[in-house]
Amino acid sequence: MDAARKLKLDVVVGSKRAAMLEDLGDAAFLPLKMHDLEEAVRSVLEFARTTPIDVVVGVDDHTTVVAAVISAALRLPHNPVTAVAAARNKHRMRELLHAQGLPVPRFALFSVDDDPAAIAEKIAFPCVVKPISLSASCGVIRANDRDEFVAAFHRVAALLEKLGGETLGEGAGKILVEDFVPGREVALEGLLTNGELRVLALFDKPDALDGPFFEETIYVTPSRLPAAVQREVTSCAARAARALGLGEGPVHGELRVSDRGVWVIEIAARSIGGRCSQTLRFVAGLSLEEVILCHALRMDIPSLDREGRAAGVMMLPIPRAGMLEEVRGLEKALAVPGIEDLEITAQLGDELVPLPEGTRYLGFLIARGETPEAVEAALRDAHRELEFVIISAPAETQRSRVMIF
Ligand code: ADP
Repeated sequence: MDAARKLKLDVVVGSKRAAMLEDLGDAAFLPLKMHDLEEAVRSVLEFARTTPIDVVVGVDDHTTVVAAVISAALRLPHNPVTAVAAARNKHRMRELLHAQGLPVPRFALFSVDDDPAAIAEKIAFPCVVKPISLSASCGVIRANDRDEFVAAFHRVAALLEKLGGETLGEGAGKILVEDFVPGREVALEGLLTNGELRVLALFDKPDALDGPFFEETIYVTPSRLPAAVQREVTSCAARAARALGLGEGPVHGELRVSDRGVWVIEIAARSIGGRCSQTLRFVAGLSLEEVILCHALRMDIPSLDREGRAAGVMMLPIPRAGMLEEVRGLEKALAVPGIEDLEITAQLGDELVPLPEGTRYLGFLIARGETPEAVEAALRDAHRELEFVIISAPAETQRSRVMIF
């Protein structure tokens, strides 16, 4: 919304409820049933009859598909719906990447009703068990042996059952199992134009992501990987986007660099999530969101070069389950040299759910500095200053049942 305001665009926000948005400003609002695509398309076509729309931009994993479907109906430029849908379905993505010869782990799809003990006989360890349509590492679990696998499978099945079909879409009832790929992970933020990938930033993830759960913490750019490896990462991401059929707009890739080369973990047809995009500032003073809107509208973008300084973000992890009672040390954390911003996005009183069932972070720390090392150190120092007071949820008390005549 800020980016659209800066670019002086008229905005129509399509969302479930206006109340979900902090600040609509003077934007128009169109209620949309995101899980009923036909109904959503009907509403937008009706709306666009009186208020023409030039471009439709999705802002997260699910809305990228909705945006592509609506764009198709409005005959606006867009990625093929099949490509965006494939980027949302971890199994379909694996099939397409594998078919195009990209390095992906061995994978197999199962139903929640399958017997994990029998599956365990057929797979290699360590492996990763995951839902096919969630994000933010929700439900992604590493298993090193048969017992861990059976437990992980049941845990993911229980999570899927709890979330229900509306949230999961085509991922309902399905569990993907794949080989664990060792190595250092990087995140690539890119922009596709006519099928060509331009890398906007390559982030190192300096904390090892070896499981059993895969909590994102620190992202720092520019990457400290050797230039040749960075080129390999870029080429791998470009081939992955092409294999899915993506040709336009933002992409966010997660890749692993091992001694056996670069592997694609996933590539999504959207920009980086949460508040992480704040780390990116482009030479002309544009934000990532302004770049995305300019690109979608075919407006001139003066430069896609990132400003010269190193930058990073720490997604503040949830240390344990419970209720967030207080956050201490905010001023001290903000005073750490290099720290540019700190936003606690969890609300006091919130019930915190750690991974693998949770999907949220406590907040975001943003830092800038002369070198990636300085940025990483600033983020770690600031995080150490923060104290999250979390009180345990009261244990379920035994309730008595009284029959009254
Ligand atoms: P999500 O879209 O929920 O983030 P991903 O499939 O990207 O799900 O998995 C989340 C994280 O789990 C990845 O960033 C990576 O660190 C780890 N991960 C997932 N699959 C594998 C794998 N096959 N091998 C190693 N790590 C993996």
